[in-house]
Amino acid sequence: MSPKMPRLEKPRPTEELTTTSSTPATSAAESAEKPPQKSVELPKALTVKQLSDLLEISPVDIIKQLMRNGVMASINQIIDFDTAAVVAADLGFEAKELPKGKTEAITSISGKRVGFAEDIDSLKPRPPVVTILGHVDHGKTTLLDAIRESNVIATEAGGITQHIGAYQVEVHSQKITFLDTPGHEAFTAMRARGAQATDIAVLVVAADDGVMPQTVEAIDHAKAAGVPIIVAINKIDKPGANPDRIKQQLSDHSLLAEDWGGNTITVPVSAKKREGISDLLESILLVAEMAELKANPNRPATGVILEAKLDTTKGPLATVLVQSGTLEVGDCVVVGETWGKLKAMFNDKGKRIKKAEPSTPVEILGLNNVPQAGDTFVAVFNERTAKEQAQERQGARERAASQPLKPRTMEQVLAQIRAGEIKELNVILKTDVQGSVEPIQNSLERLEAEKAKVKIIHTGSGSVSESDVLLAVASKAMIIGFNTHPEPGAVRLAEAEGVSIRLHSIIYELVEDVNKALAGLLEPTFREVIEGHAEVRAVFQVKKTRVAGVFVTDGKITRDASARVLRGGKAVYASTVTSLKHFKEDVKELSSGFEGGIGIEGFGDIQVGDIIEAYRKERVG
Ligand code: GDP
Repeated sequence: MSPKMPRLEKPRPTEELTTTSSTPATSAAESAEKPPQKSVELPKALTVKQLSDLLEISPVDIIKQLMRNGVMASINQIIDFDTAAVVAADLGFEAKELPKGKTEAITSISGKRVGFAEDIDSLKPRPPVVTILGHVDHGKTTLLDAIRESNVIATEAGGITQHIGAYQVEVHSQKITFLDTPGHEAFTAMRARGAQATDIAVLVVAADDGVMPQTVEAIDHAKAAGVPIIVAINKIDKPGANPDRIKQQLSDHSLLAEDWGGNTITVPVSAKKREGISDLLESILLVAEMAELKANPNRPATGVILEAKLDTTKGPLATVLVQSGTLEVGDCVVVGETWGKLKAMFNDKGKRIKKAEPSTPVEILGLNNVPQAGDTFVAVFNERTAKEQAQERQGARERAASQPLKPRTMEQVLAQIRAGEIKELNVILKTDVQGSVEPIQNSLERLEAEKAKVKIIHTGSGSVSESDVLLAVASKAMIIGFNTHPEPGAVRLAEAEGVSIRLHSIIYELVEDVNKALAGLLEPTFREVIEGHAEVRAVFQVKKTRVAGVFVTDGKITRDASARVLRGGKAVYASTVTSLKHFKEDVKELSSGFEGGIGIEGFGDIQVGDIIEAYRKERVG
């Protein structure tokens, strides 16, 4: 049941197309007639994810474009050059085929290394990699256990599964790999780090409880990733179980069950009673077959770290998922900023193995340091290359860290909108109450800007969570909060990743804000970070200005910091610290517990008892 890829028309003739990315800016009217074309080199075969990375366009948009051309494909599916070229042309790129035999790294339109060109003839089917998603307590862990156990009998005696973060089962001599960290947070965290490990998502919905907030989140996260969803309607052994009610609820979230005329496979199961498990596994194989998952086993391995830890006796241990190629004991691998020569490998049954093919999870021993989950790895030819590449990555990270700010996700998005490279602004909308979601969503989706329109990828009520921020990173989205606030962890993550969280309490302003974003004109917002306070204990006249003799009570005061003068708890003046002295000496900063002198720009009325509050403005969006 392997659908043949329909043949598509070749891209339009090239004389119309410009071949460089440095197309001069054209007026909007001109560019509407003749969209600027960028040239991109594509290999003979590549996955949807790779095409998305190469064109720097979201996988969902690529999938949609494929659908418009009559090709149903999922994120990890391989498509051929002709198909990719048509889609690329639709999206404004002129595709050229990579020269034959060129198998080295392929790079995206902005020069990022994306992966390796694969020879289409060497691709072999590989097992699907499955993640279990769903609301808390709906039975994800129990289902993972049930699936694992369903297979123990089939494996050799004593085949007790180790906990290594993933395991494989065999059905009709076909393998399926399950990632053992259920939940959409882990799933999206991995995507936010640039790794796409999952091919199929199994969404667990408890039949007695129904679709709950995290079920909706999971659906949105899987959809944003372009991963096909199979629904396991769990707990059907319970008296209150009502699978039809679940199907009804799912249809409200655009998952229409097959037996209701849609194309979402739903499987009734009882994880606890171990019922329906083989039906679920069969369904996974069916969806996997449709997705035509393939990889080339005959090349140096690449893959992703699922888990890593430091073992006191064995040293750094990592569970990795091989995604392409074959990983072998003795291979040198570069992972994140570390590397190592593989001393030993163990499969999910704890058995020592020498080789691991695509989609196999293995525990590896021999890394010099503990990598992070979500880091990708590549096997290289020798230790020297491994060491060099690891150092190079470290250098790149240090250089990035010494930059004042990481490239802002939102800035990149706005720049892309301005350049006409993306036509949709992904938005995550969080509101105080569920009732406000719909009117705001409607107003936003009605906005029509010249260059782009809004695509709401997730809505929900409650505070802005870390998982929302991860989804925003992975999907290059902005987060809009209406009468709500972000959780502290979400703020930290958003700052580190450059995700924009815009908070509003007036719908009109919210809509106006998004309208600006659509025009690529959004101004950043700032928040204040208080650096310290100083108490004024004396006032001196130095030439024409009055200088405050202070004692720093907390934090620090730095020269050029923003400062306000508080009197009786109220700000009476706001300006900057222009001079800072410790005794007679000019200093850059004065820390808590020190005395010194402070001059405030333009303020002549400083008084004993005033408090000087120094603060810094930080960008938040
Ligand atoms: P998770 O939070 O989604 O991982 O949910 P768990 O797997 O921890 O399950 C939550 C609770 O539901 C546990 O008490 C399980 O025993 C129970 N449970 C899970 N599956 C079933 C089922 O099929 N039937 C019944 N009756 N209970 C189940």
